[in-house]
Parts: sequence; C-alpha cells; structure tokens
Amino acid sequence: MVVKDFQLINHQWFTDSRQVVSHASGSWLADAVFFAIQGEHHDGHEFIGELYRKGIRQFVVERSSLTPERRAELANYTDAQFIEVDSSLQTLQMLASEHRRQFRIPVIGITGSNGKTIVKEWLAQLVSGSSASGDFVVAKSPKSYNSQLGVPLSVHELTESHTLGIFEAGISKTQEMQALETIIRPTIGIFTNIGTAHDEGFRTRKQKVAEKLRLFIHANTLIYCTDYADIDEEVNLLLKAVNPDMRFVTWSLTGQKATYQGVLTGDQLRLTDSKNGSLNLTLRLPFTDPASVENLMHCIVTMLTLRPWNSDELQNRLNRLRPVSMRLEQKEGINNCVLIDDSYNNDVVGLQLALRFLNQQRTRSRRMVVLSDVLQSGQPEDELYGQVGALMRANEVEQFVGVGLVVSRNAQFFPKNSLFYATTDEFLTRFPFSELRDSAVLVKGARPFSFERIVHRLERKVHGTVLEINLDSLTHNLNYYREKVGSATKLMVMVKAFAYGSGSAEVAQLLQFHRVDCLAVAYADEGVSLRQNGVDLPIMVMNPAPETFATLLEYKLEPEIYSMRLLREWGRFAAESKPQGEGENKPLPTASCPLHLKIDTGMHRLGFLESELPTVADYLKRHPMLRIATVFSHLVGADEAQFNSFSREQYETFLRSTALLEETLGYQPTRHLLNSAGIVRFPDYKLDMVRLGIGLYGVEASQIDQAALQTVGTLRTIISQIKTVGAGESVGYSRRGVLDHEARIATLAIGYADGYDRRLGNGIGEVWVNGTRCPTVGNVCMDMTMIDITAASANEGDEVMIFGAELPITELSQRIGTIPYEILTGVSERVKRVFFKEGN
Ligand SMILES: *Cc1c(COP(=O)(O)O)cnc(C)c1O
Repeated sequence: MVVKDFQLINHQWFTDSRQVVSHASGSWLADAVFFAIQGEHHDGHEFIGELYRKGIRQFVVERSSLTPERRAELANYTDAQFIEVDSSLQTLQMLASEHRRQFRIPVIGITGSNGKTIVKEWLAQLVSGSSASGDFVVAKSPKSYNSQLGVPLSVHELTESHTLGIFEAGISKTQEMQALETIIRPTIGIFTNIGTAHDEGFRTRKQKVAEKLRLFIHANTLIYCTDYADIDEEVNLLLKAVNPDMRFVTWSLTGQKATYQGVLTGDQLRLTDSKNGSLNLTLRLPFTDPASVENLMHCIVTMLTLRPWNSDELQNRLNRLRPVSMRLEQKEGINNCVLIDDSYNNDVVGLQLALRFLNQQRTRSRRMVVLSDVLQSGQPEDELYGQVGALMRANEVEQFVGVGLVVSRNAQFFPKNSLFYATTDEFLTRFPFSELRDSAVLVKGARPFSFERIVHRLERKVHGTVLEINLDSLTHNLNYYREKVGSATKLMVMVKAFAYGSGSAEVAQLLQFHRVDCLAVAYADEGVSLRQNGVDLPIMVMNPAPETFATLLEYKLEPEIYSMRLLREWGRFAAESKPQGEGENKPLPTASCPLHLKIDTGMHRLGFLESELPTVADYLKRHPMLRIATVFSHLVGADEAQFNSFSREQYETFLRSTALLEETLGYQPTRHLLNSAGIVRFPDYKLDMVRLGIGLYGVEASQIDQAALQTVGTLRTIISQIKTVGAGESVGYSRRGVLDHEARIATLAIGYADGYDRRLGNGIGEVWVNGTRCPTVGNVCMDMTMIDITAASANEGDEVMIFGAELPITELSQRIGTIPYEILTGVSERVKRVFFKEGN
C-alpha cells in the first residue's frame, strides 16, 4: 500500500455517502475525505458523483474498481483529488492505527461474546462525569461500532484532550482480530466471556477464544473471569507464552483461582483480594441479573486496575449507574410530529448517528433538534459547539433548541432562530408547544437533564396496544435475502397492505435508505402515500383501476398491466396525455410510460396467457410511449415441495413468454418470478429480479431457514384489570369460558377489532405474560380479551405480548388454521406502530 498522505488523518472521514448531507453551504466539507469501499451490499465507488455534487473533493478509491468508464467519469471532476489504493478499507485501518500511535494514554480494548457494549458504556459512566479530580475524559466507540470498519472510525475520534480510550472489538471470522489489534493497540484488555454467537465462522470454540485473544498480544494487563474455563485455559496456553510480562487481573464468583474473589448475597457483593488480602470491599450492586452482575464485575475490577478507589466512592458511582439503552425510538408526537427519542449518550458521534436517522424522516417538512449540554466531551467548548452548530446546518435543521447553561452561552455557533433554555423545567414551561407541528423532532439529552420528561410531553399518548417494529431486524432480513440472490439480481420489495401491517411509509423509507431497486403496492393510493412521504424509488401498482391513471402519471407510479382491456385503456390514456408543463400539443415521449406486464403461467388470477402475447407485442409496437419495464409471473406453490414440478413448468412457460416478447419487441425487459419462498427454494429461477415479501417481515414462508431471520414485529397490549373468579363461573359473552378451577383472570386491552383473531378465544390462543404463557378464556370480544393468569405473576398495567420472538406469528397462524400473512396484515390500523433501532 502506498498512501503516504498521512494528512488524511486530520480530515473528517466518510465511508457512507448517506452520512454526507450538506449541499452548497459547507466549508466544513473542505477537509472531508470519502473512502470508497466495495461492501457486501453497496459499492461506494458508485456514489462518487453524488458526493462530488455535495461538495466532497477528496476520495480514496480502489484500483480494481477503476474501469475505463469510471476513469472517464472521474476525469470530469477536475478539481477533486483521487488517491488510488488497493483497498480503501485497509487504508482507512492503516491511517487509524497511525492516528492511534500519537497517543500515550491508557486504552482499554474489550472483546468477548456478550456484554462488550454494556461494559464499555458502564465503565465510561463510572470513571467520568462526576467532576471529581480523578475523573477520566473518555473516548469510546459509539454504540456497538466494533467491526473492521467501525473500529477505525471510532479510534479516529481520539483527540489530545482524552485521558482514556475504551473501544470494543467484535469479530465473526478468523484472521479479523489482527487488524483490529493494530488499530486499538489496547494497553488494558477485557475479555468479557465466551458464548456461541458467530460459532459458524470458527472451527472450534478454542479457536474462537484464541483468535479473540490476539487483541491483547501487546497489552500490559488482561482482565477476565476464571469461571470461564475455556478462556482461562487458552490464556495460560497462548498469551502467557507470547507476552510473558503481562499482568493478569482475574476474578471469580465461584471460588476459582483468581486475583479477586467475589461473593454475592442478594445485591451485596463482597470482594476480596486473594493475593495480599489488603482489599475487602462490600458493595451494593444496582442490578442483580446474572448478565448485569458479570458486566459490573468487569467494570469494578477494571476500575481497581486503573487507580485505587475507596468503597464510598465506588458505591456512589455504582448508584449513579443507569441501564444502557441503545434504543433509538421513533414515536408519534403531538400535532402530527414524529418524535425521535435517542436516550443514548449524547456525545458528538452519537449525535451524528441520530441526525442521520432524522434525515431519513422525510415524512415531515420541518426538522427540529432539542439538545442538552454535551457532557464529558473533553473538547474545548468553542470547538465542540462550533462542531455541533455545523452539524445542525449541514443537516438542514430548521429549529435548534439548546437546553443547559453551557450550550446557551455558546449560542453564537447556532442559527439565529435557535432557542435556548437554562434547564429542562424552563423548556417545559416556556417552550411554545402549540406552535410545534408537522415536524420531525430529535430529542437527545445527557442523563442529568432528564429528557424523558420532554419526550413524555411531546409524545402522542399511546394507550393499550402497540405494534413495535424493529428496524434493525428488518435490515437484517433484507440483507439475508440480498446475500441469497447476490448483487447481480435486483430486488423489488412488496410493501402492499401497509407493508404487511408493519407501516408502509416507515418501511419504505428504510428500504429506500438501503437502496433496494423498486417497491410494489396493491393500489394507487398506497403509492401516492409513499410519494407524499418522500419515497422516490420506482413503484409498481398491482391493481391499477383506469380511474387512477392520471394519478399514476402525476406521481410517477407504474401500473401492472394484466389484460388486453387494461393495456388498451392505458394506451389510449397515454396517447391522449401531454407532457406536464410543456408544449400543449406534443405527445408523450417514447417509452415515457413504463409498465409491468403480468404473465399468467398457472395461478389463473391476473395476467396474460402465453397465447395472448403476440397481440400484446403488436399493440406495444404501435404505441411507442409505452414500454415494458419489467415482465413477471408468480409461482402458485413456491413454498411447497409437492408443487416443485408445477413450479418448473411455470418457470419454463415464463421463459418462453419472455423470449417471445423480446424477439418481437427488440428489447429485453427485466424478468422476475420469485417471491420470498421462491428465493429460498428455487435459486436457479431468480432471473433479473426477485420480489421479496413476507420474508422481510421475519417469516420464512417455506420454513427451511426460519432461524436465519429475525422477528420484526412485536404486538403488545396491557392488562386493564385483574380479578379472581371462582370455579364453575363463566367468563365473557355467551358464558363460553366456564372455569374448572378458581382462576385469576386478566382483561387485556385488545380484541378482534385490533386484529386479535376471534378464533384464538377459548384457550386456542396463548399470550406471554412476564415469562409465562397464559391461555385465553372465553370468546374474544371486539376490544378486549380475557386470559387466565393463575400460573403467572402479573399486575394491572403490566405489558402482555400477543406475538413476537417468544410467540411466533407462525404459531398463532397454525393454531387457527390460517397463514402468517393473515395474522400480520390483520393488525388493525388503530394499533399504534412504534419503530425502533438498537444497533448502529
Ligand atoms: C405479495 C406478492 C409477492 C410477495 O410474496 P411473499 O410470499 O410475501 O414473498 C410476490 N409477488 C406478487 C405478485 C405478490 O402479490
């Protein structure tokens, strides 16, 4: 590699074109550099033009991607600099490790199967933020940025003012840790634990432990728990040989040999130093579930390794500890606002991530940010708020609201119309809430500012039943199918029926963000609603009534054409239409009305039969403004092996049909046949494009690879009332729920009008109450359902899961003899959808 241009170290780094949002304004883009990376899903080189237009002038590009066409494109950008390398990612990693070399501070590197992010966040909370003299100024990875790309980006955030670095490293394959070690170069290591995640990338668990231990080969201290025999064994075998000077600080809660022995009784931890017996601490732990205890032990032992603490000091800091919420939630706000509630820590990197999410919300015309003082940044005030102010401008935030004394006294860095309040209370009493409407509002505050009170004030109250949509799972499922079909095959995603019940605008926006090729809806008005919500991908409308043709044209929606009648109507309409805003008598230009031709290869629902195609082709030749964008058909039994030979016949009929069209028309429209189950079962039939539906929403229809998908929707409701009902009495309408025992009966705020199927009544259905499955009792009512909670512990107001990870939709559908599609799309629109993200 021959990048000598280490100046790049001091630049802003971008690897994702979507993070760059500035248009004309930004002088801050002058020192930005974009690393074009060929990723699994996108090739960064494709976005160079877009970024150039946004103002970026420095690019790191890969030689292998510089085809003659691309070189010709880049030659147009005469004032830009292109640094050619073999691998942009490796260059980024090398620059990051070069950056790291400039610092002599302690740097903690964390790896292990679970708990990395929590240990990192808790440690940072524990050792900073109290304004005490022994406090550290911490640089750390945002959220769970622990990958080959996330680690260099995180380490690049280190500045002179930091006194401690905490970075996590995650690997999924052998050979990955070495690169991360060079970049983090930890002086202190924490090995949290070893579990089964990512086992498939490794031959044995020992190999996995050994690979992870590479993070520590140059560290001077390693912290781990000797209760994990695998870890202890490999440390003794490998690390002690490679790095004989290393100090091992170990702990055990089960009496294994270790530096620190812990004994936990209730929430009381007694910690003794087994070497010299000088330490004898008793601490009250704020969390006592096993995972939290393990994470806390790592934190406490690390603190003791960093410097001495007395027990009062330790206890005070533990008392301040808050659960780490990595959720960024999107909620419905008052006055038609969208609320983005980011309860995560409020450093600048976290702010950038949240702004990026705000930017996806094109649903609302205005953007507002409510931000508290940024604590513990370690940066000088004017530098920090200068940066925050620039971010607001770059992200085109119309209204900035600062809460806190420090942000207020830096008002000069923010747009003129910004508002400032000294405290959260002052904001709540003085902010003109009634003037706030139709906006996307990001609320992001440091813990001491209790911004949950602001969220509470701005939130449209959700009572009763909510459908939570996990946007990270949706992305995971999308990527699963993407990998299945490969990058040469395009992806159309079905967002009909309110995106299978999940919320069409939000899902479509996410899909647009992830650059799928096109979307499909059932009716024109669904397409219009997507356009009004800022979706500009091609959209196919599967059931276009002639009355909606003008709407289709106006909103650039593309009809599915399935019969000669419809084709003629569309053709006549197109012939009579004039281009918008241009000369009055001109006809529409050639090929300006794309359509999607549906072939009936055996479903016998909508579509042209093979025998009709010569007439279709003939008609199209005579109507040049029409053009087949894609041609498709649908398998009748893609998910069932018994229909394999019929599926094959359909495929062959489809191939003959498309060949005929191509021959007569002289061009080849994009061909697609497969739905979700087809993608899994018939990879050979994927052709030019596939149509992903239910799989995106977490149901693997052929049930071959369900474990590869993640649950997207969780339907929850609450217990409205609990009462004890005696044996022999009945519950609900028509006295159907007769009890054979005295039972605790809970009434839930969900009924068939919300989409809880009436067939799930009378014990056919079960719901999940605080970890226990409880059966329904009696008939499901319109707005309520009764369940027997005798076996569960529950109180009025508790949440109850109707479906979700513990209660799969497929189970519900099987219990009442239907298909998961019906359960998903049946959740009524009166049920609030809440969208959230956990990862980065
Ligand atoms: C709904 C639909 C799909 C998607 O089907 P899934 O089984 O949900 O993947 C594909 N093609 C057509 C024509 C559809 O109507």
